[in-house]
Amino acid sequence: MKKLLFAIFAHPDDEAFGPSGTLVLEARSGTELHLVTLTSGQTGQNPDGHEDLGVVRLIEWHKAAKLMGAAKTHYLGYRDGQLCNNVLVEIQARLIKIVKEVVSQQDEPCEVEFMTIDDNGITGHIDHTVASRAATFAFYTLKGTGNLPLTRIRYVCAPQDVFPTHNIDWIYMPAGRTPEEIDEVVDAREVLDTVRQIIRCHHTQRADAEAHLSARADAVAINHFIVRN
Ligand SMILES: [Zn+2]
Repeated sequence: MKKLLFAIFAHPDDEAFGPSGTLVLEARSGTELHLVTLTSGQTGQNPDGHEDLGVVRLIEWHKAAKLMGAAKTHYLGYRDGQLCNNVLVEIQARLIKIVKEVVSQQDEPCEVEFMTIDDNGITGHIDHTVASRAATFAFYTLKGTGNLPLTRIRYVCAPQDVFPTHNIDWIYMPAGRTPEEIDEVVDAREVLDTVRQIIRCHHTQRADAEAHLSARADAVAINHFIVRN
């Protein structure tokens, strides 16, 4: 059966730095991939002094989406760094609307899967947690209607061997997940070169990108997930 995958994240580089290997494999195996970013990442690093960083970052995101093989992108227009309770309810409703619209346009039966970020935020960024909670609400709400074939929601997480302990250098960043907490590991090293290209699409965030690539080496294409259904 055809699979629709909604990958819902807060910032334009979240899926690239996170589960891009898995997303590439999904798209190549025929999954219709929908990428959702809640913000344009307009308060990210801006080494080139772009006047409107958000516009540049969305262009970078679209390049990365193309390399990933995404069928469609959905930008929701919220402000980077300002995701919170005040917008959570609206985001949930908009996600539900997007999924319903996409499903209604299908001319064959399909199953629907979600992917988002661990609700601990991985880096501790509250935007990440809001994206995760909104995606989770939309998933269970749609599933609860009984009308849509919702299968599972996968939360990309960091394993304990990457972040052995919590970190309070800046904001609270939790330790990585233990092996018992991780339900699925996807080894996408067969598309490692593409993963590296996808990460490097985010040229404005190149300091983080190169640090991430160098720290993780080949493991940048190995993704860890908590899975719920
Ligand atoms: Zn982020």
